[in-house]
Amino acid sequence: MMTVTVEERALIDEIILKNQLCYVGIIDTAGMPYVIPMNFGYKDDIIYLHSAQEGNSIESLEKNPNVCITFCTEPTLTYQNKEMACSYRMKGGSVICRGKVVFEENFDEKVKALDIIMSQYTDGHFTYSAPSVNNVRVWKIEIESISTKVFGVPHPNSRNYKDKLEF
Ligand SMILES: Cc1cc2nc3c(=O)[nH]c(=O)nc-3n(C[C@H](O)[C@H](O)[C@H](O)COP(=O)(O)OP(=O)(O)OC[C@H]3O[C@@H](n4cnc5c(N)ncnc54)[C@H](O)[C@@H]3O)c2cc1C
Repeated sequence: MMTVTVEERALIDEIILKNQLCYVGIIDTAGMPYVIPMNFGYKDDIIYLHSAQEGNSIESLEKNPNVCITFCTEPTLTYQNKEMACSYRMKGGSVICRGKVVFEENFDEKVKALDIIMSQYTDGHFTYSAPSVNNVRVWKIEIESISTKVFGVPHPNSRNYKDKLEF
């Protein structure tokens, strides 16, 4: 599935896990791009999302399950010379992954997925009522391809690269 170096892998996990949101790109029923912000969970190369049972996104995914999901760190503005516009940069990192949405139908697996989503945001142990689990649509996306890029930091071969990388 994923062909990334160990360093890239660490960076990917850091960027994804630092996020509160992801941006999910879908092909809508008219064949047009449709991108929505969503909360997520991430474990073992799988992204977990949840939604209402119906809506534009569900209708679209039933026709075409392919998604492209983007994560981006909080950007910070940096510059080398305050007076020079062209020396200004946005420092940040992003990850793009692609895969197919599979809707999880098994009750216990849905609960596990909801726990993974909750663990992205808060510690604790949660219980879920049967109707609330039944009424939620759980999306499972096994990551098929992934890439990461960082912006506004020294070149990866530079000695300062690691020091300047923190987001
Ligand atoms: C911070 C944040 C976190 C969110 N987390 C989740 C989540 O975890 N799960 C979840 O299901 N939803 C989440 N949402 C809402 C999500 O972005 C969608 O609005 C929602 O999933 C409904 O999508 P739908 O395609 O079913 O919309 P429908 O209600 O079918 O959309 C009808 C039309 O409304 C418009 N529309 C829909 N959503 C948006 C939007 N976000 N912004 C502007 N216009 C819109 C579009 O033009 C769309 O064609 C979140 C939104 C925000 C801002």
